Amino acid sequence: MRLTVFGTGYVGLITGACLADVGHRVICVDVDAAKIARLRKGDIPIYEPGLAAIFERNVAAGTLEFTTDAAAAVAHAPVQMIAVGTPPDESGAADLQYVLAVAGTIATHAKGHKVVVVKSTVPVGTSDRVAERLAAQPSAGFTVDVVSNPEFLKEGSAVGDFLKPDRIIVGAASERARAVMHEIYEPFNRNHDRMLYMDVRSAELTKYAANAMLATKISFINEMANLAERLGADIEQVRRGIGADQRIGYHFIYPGAGYGGSCFPKDVQALLRTGAELNYPTPLIAAVETVNNRQKHTLFEKLQAELGDLAGKTIAVWGLAFKPNTDDVREAPSRALLEALWQAGAKVRAYDPVAAHEIARIYGDRPDLVLAPDKYAALEGADALAICTEWQQFRAPDFDEMAGRLKSRIVVDGRNLYVPDRMRDLGWTYVSVGRPRVVG
Ligand code: NAD
Repeated sequence: MRLTVFGTGYVGLITGACLADVGHRVICVDVDAAKIARLRKGDIPIYEPGLAAIFERNVAAGTLEFTTDAAAAVAHAPVQMIAVGTPPDESGAADLQYVLAVAGTIATHAKGHKVVVVKSTVPVGTSDRVAERLAAQPSAGFTVDVVSNPEFLKEGSAVGDFLKPDRIIVGAASERARAVMHEIYEPFNRNHDRMLYMDVRSAELTKYAANAMLATKISFINEMANLAERLGADIEQVRRGIGADQRIGYHFIYPGAGYGGSCFPKDVQALLRTGAELNYPTPLIAAVETVNNRQKHTLFEKLQAELGDLAGKTIAVWGLAFKPNTDDVREAPSRALLEALWQAGAKVRAYDPVAAHEIARIYGDRPDLVLAPDKYAALEGADALAICTEWQQFRAPDFDEMAGRLKSRIVVDGRNLYVPDRMRDLGWTYVSVGRPRVVG
């Protein structure tokens, strides 16, 4: 089938590449001409495992194309997918200007029947607004079905998630639209049927409910971890103890430095706004955000507790991405730490396997930031190490090498990578999340 995808960010690019890979003919369109120029040269702007091979294969086969020409992109296909950003506005609500602008573009150029698929994460009722916008500029004979098809891929494993989704949510009002969606996703249903059809508003809310539930799990375990620290308990033992209960399960109850990324923070905020607009307070969701904001500052507070006044001190930071296997640093806990350290007059020596360029882009050249070429170089002359992201390569480092480079054997670990008893035996002061501090 011919498909058009608006937006070539994480979701648009993965969606376009993976749908091309199963045989569809996909044109991806973006208003960012520089991004499209890079993509046409074969330069992928994001880091995502497995994407390069699929991208190259399909560009070479001519099944995946990139353009800024919206008119040609609209004419290309009966299905128009919207995967543009929905960042928070000043109030925290999802800013729908990009989604509605795409709807306007489609309305301007469309002829015949189109299925417009909203993949962006949008508040309940947005698909209706998209339909209104499409109807506002009707060209002769243009008819449309608007479908909600929220995306659940996870950065860092986005290609695998797209190719083998847990479920494919389709909110559609007409049988005709459901049939089109079935045809698009047929190749992903060979093992078992992953399609879940529902009404449009329920599909829109499903996305927010899923992200809010996951964020709640994270804030819950972080709150328990903070209590464990103050009670002399070990959250890792507690985690296993509660995870064994099948009603709770082991997934997504890892304590850490708080959630970040482009989705959880903004989707939790948008859900809060939705409640406020309905004059229906959502105290649980509000608490999830409050707990997370507090958690993002715990690494800084623990460094302060170890080192006292941080002015003039140097802190090594391992991991800048909001999670492993991505170069995305949006809302990353590392940024809360970096900014707090700079505010306190400390210097930072940081290392991340792939995200350093993003930190350089955001913070520019500053005298109190060194982006080191490898994890050991980051430690050179630093007073302590803070760990923000659980990259595999941080899990079993050479502790002797580390001790040789750091001024003192202090690790503040936001991801619980090491065994406290072992760290004590090796002579380290080791502060982790929800576990007793050990001093070697
Ligand atoms: P992104 O910011 O990485 O990319 C958005 C792209 O849309 C940009 O390249 C931008 O130039 C382009 N764009 C803006 N206006 C346009 C227009 N009028 N026409 C064509 N292109 C336009 O965003 P993203 O991370 O891919 O997220 C997109 C949506 O998917 C958001 O609603 C997000 O919440 C949702 N989502 C994201 C993820 C994720 O992990 N990133 C996962 C699931 C859902």
